[in-house]
Amino acid sequence: MASVDTTAAQSTNGHGGGAEIPVENPATGEVIAHVANLDAARVAEIARAGRAAQPGWQAMGFEGRGRVIRRMQKWVMDNSERVVQTIVSETGKTYEDAYMVEINYAGGAIDYWIKQAPKFLDDESVHATTLAVRGKKMVVRYEPLGLIGVIGPWNYPLANSFGDCIPALLAGNSVILKPSEVTPLTSLLLAEGLAESGLPEGVFQVATGRGETGAALVDEVDMIMFTGSTETGRRVLKRAADTLTPVSLELGGKDPMIVLSDADLERAANLAVYYSMLNGGQTCISIERVYVEEPVYDEFVRRVVDKVGVLRQGPSTGPATAEVGAMTFPKQLEIVEEHVRDALAKGARALTGGKRRAGKGMFFEPTVLVDVDHTMKAMTEETFGPTLPIMKVADAEEAITLANDSPYGLGGAVFSGDRARGEQLARRMQAGAVCVNDALLNYVAVELPMGGWKASGLGARHGAAGIRKFTKQQSIFISRLHLKNDVYMFPYRRRVSKALFQGVRLFYGRGRRR
Ligand code: NDP
Repeated sequence: MASVDTTAAQSTNGHGGGAEIPVENPATGEVIAHVANLDAARVAEIARAGRAAQPGWQAMGFEGRGRVIRRMQKWVMDNSERVVQTIVSETGKTYEDAYMVEINYAGGAIDYWIKQAPKFLDDESVHATTLAVRGKKMVVRYEPLGLIGVIGPWNYPLANSFGDCIPALLAGNSVILKPSEVTPLTSLLLAEGLAESGLPEGVFQVATGRGETGAALVDEVDMIMFTGSTETGRRVLKRAADTLTPVSLELGGKDPMIVLSDADLERAANLAVYYSMLNGGQTCISIERVYVEEPVYDEFVRRVVDKVGVLRQGPSTGPATAEVGAMTFPKQLEIVEEHVRDALAKGARALTGGKRRAGKGMFFEPTVLVDVDHTMKAMTEETFGPTLPIMKVADAEEAITLANDSPYGLGGAVFSGDRARGEQLARRMQAGAVCVNDALLNYVAVELPMGGWKASGLGARHGAAGIRKFTKQQSIFISRLHLKNDVYMFPYRRRVSKALFQGVRLFYGRGRRR
């Protein structure tokens, strides 16, 4: 694979007012670009540009905006090799993880939002049912918030960052995207794509920088869409409280998978391996822990170990060259090491892997852990790496109790040969996105709201809620013409009070009887 094209990185957001940030390829250790580190003054400046550009963008209407975003969809497909190369170079993920998850997501999500945005944001006529408003016309409408700040993590620089910008833009807002300092190049490249697709200047801007740049952005915008750790999410929420800025948060998870003894073990093992190792395990809704009923435990573990044992790991130099890529973020590699070390010290066994790979690049070997329990970090804290701890349980009751024994509630999966039984158990999972005989698909099912419970987040992306959150609602009441007064108002009160009270009793009394 050729080296990454950094033209966009050098030209898009100019001078930052701070030192530059080097961007490293985690699979090779090579520095591939430098980007500006925007300070608070520069963030305020681009926020002003975003606000100035927004009314013109809103005035283009759904059709005009949709045309620009449709051209962007084509741009992403026409430039997919360049986008994939950029993603692979700054994340160290495999070619397939970049193509099948990120490019594929962009295609589907853009299509969905272009088609659905007018429907989700169209004026809604509401039927008046209560006595006080009978006969009046009522309308709910959605107005863009203005300037949206999207703060993204490093694991999916397209899907998890740019992905949220699409509905925000289609809703008529300007957007400033603050990508992770570790993976800013994809966002800069996509900004170039939007400009080539005809997006008016200032409507979409990228604020490269570190955490302080993100913090400064919170002060400047009308709404923040944040994806990242629970700890930083809390910080963002606290800062946004000062300006009463609405916040939507998708945070960490510790997603459980339950395998019942009547499950198709081959499918369950295949999905456990794929969805724990996908993207090097650095997916917010990765399978992070598995609970298997005792009668099928040994067989399940045997199948998983066989499948993990043949995975190839290394720098991805093109299609089909590696199955498991690098860790993207140096600190994350240390967390994975710490979780595995802690588990082994408390009596767990690593049946494959178990350590950082020697040589160049940030790789942690695909690792299967057994003899694990909830005293271990690998079972209770977000690992976010290529590890799969598997625990034996007596029955489904123990499995669901342990699955819910977590501060997180992002996703989860249940495998059973009886779909109804699987669904019953899935309904008892304390998580916002659950699957039966499948896993993780909630993220690409853009038709469904996807959001975490407990410490995994606030709000949702995708579905109607995923675009309405970028708007403010206005309800409008329209009275009939020629109506001089209503019977409950002052001049009538002296004369008709008793009749009015009786009217209320009759109206709702009759309703209760019905
Ligand atoms: P963070 O939550 O630290 O960062 C996410 C984004 O927020 C980055 O762009 C970061 O910038 C920015 N940021 C950092 N501090 C602030 C602040 N005070 N105000 C506003 N924005 C800020 O996540 P990491 O990327 O460091 O990953 C750490 C952990 O997050 C992982 O261990 C994992 O558990 C979880 N995570 C969850 C993801 C998910 O999809 N739910 C994705 C990635 C990580 P910068 O990177 O420049 O510091």
